[in-house]
Amino acid sequence: MNEDTSRFVARHVQGLPCSGIREFFSIVSKMPDAISLGIGEPDFHTPWRIREAAIFALERGKTSYTDNLGLIQLRRAISDYVEEHFGLGYHPENEILVTTGVSEGLDAALRAFINPGDKALYHEPCYVAYHPCIQLSHGLGVPVATSAEDQFSLNPETLAKAWQPGCKALLLNFPTNPTGGVLEADSMASVARFAEEKDLLIISDEIYAELSYGQKHRSIAALPGMKERVLFLHGVSKAFAMTGFRIGFACGPAPLIEAMTSVHQYGMLCAPIVSQEAALEALRHGQEAVESMRQQYLRRRDYIVRRFNEIGLPCHLPKGTFYAFPDIRSTGLSEEQFCHRLLKEQKVAVVPGTAFGPSGKGFVRASFATGYDLLIEAVSRIEQFLQNLG
Ligand code: PMP
Repeated sequence: MNEDTSRFVARHVQGLPCSGIREFFSIVSKMPDAISLGIGEPDFHTPWRIREAAIFALERGKTSYTDNLGLIQLRRAISDYVEEHFGLGYHPENEILVTTGVSEGLDAALRAFINPGDKALYHEPCYVAYHPCIQLSHGLGVPVATSAEDQFSLNPETLAKAWQPGCKALLLNFPTNPTGGVLEADSMASVARFAEEKDLLIISDEIYAELSYGQKHRSIAALPGMKERVLFLHGVSKAFAMTGFRIGFACGPAPLIEAMTSVHQYGMLCAPIVSQEAALEALRHGQEAVESMRQQYLRRRDYIVRRFNEIGLPCHLPKGTFYAFPDIRSTGLSEEQFCHRLLKEQKVAVVPGTAFGPSGKGFVRASFATGYDLLIEAVSRIEQFLQNLG
């Protein structure tokens, strides 16, 4: 009997890389005394009043499907929130789709807009899902490298050089996972002009927007003339510490939202109702909790970045997210060697920069969504590790 069932797996799925992060964290999970700076999610519990809203929803018997687009009350709250925080007006009836996390929003967008063979530009290092999701939608990913010299922002000239005929979309993620890079106003204006010139659809994942530490976050969709070519993706996972609720939302021109809704209604039907009720509470009354968590991330960021630089790992100041991205080239180790040895010798987990694409070479990602005291201990173990290297 032929035992090899892998022949049933589609070719484009066989070709997907196994997430570098997943592999590494199966090792970490077996080490109870390790300090993990690897996880891409808040260490805070979801604020109590949001959890209570979920419990109350269950108590009221809210256990059904909802409209494919999501609860209308939630879409109204999203509309108000996006208007207040991003200066963008979207109509709750036909310009907003509630998704099962930004993950589903991204997947539905790519499946709705990418024809087989269409090309999608994305800046890199980037969130691990971007390239595989482009592949899953039968598109071709075109990476645009970013660098520490540019604070991991998107250099408009590098973007123009990376462009090729057949590029239809540009994926943006500012502030960026894994680098904490942001797109300053002048670069944003150039990127917008370039998108207009090349008629690109921008898919803008702004999931870390509230976790910005310098200037207030601005969306590229808010630039004059851009709203018609930008799909704005956002969600409650990061700023509201609600990763397990799985709620995101897509806002954009009605025809784009309609196309995404076709994909969403057959693939997902709707986002879970209890989570939608919780997200409603978050957007209406969660701002104070968000600000309190942001302040704590800010304090941790300032600490960890200062210490990395002190111990000899140059690290730019991330202007958003909860990730630091130090340069480990001075150790002479590859990022893989660095991470494996650091874990084995000092029981601290950080993620190799190359898990986020080839331009992460020479860097590691350290999440500061970790308690302040643990950060102090982790950095002192990293210092010891560097001293042992000599
Ligand atoms: N986009 C980025 C840039 C992320 O870092 C993540 C989570 N790590 C996601 C999307 C997925 O978010 P969600 O929980 O909303 O699916």
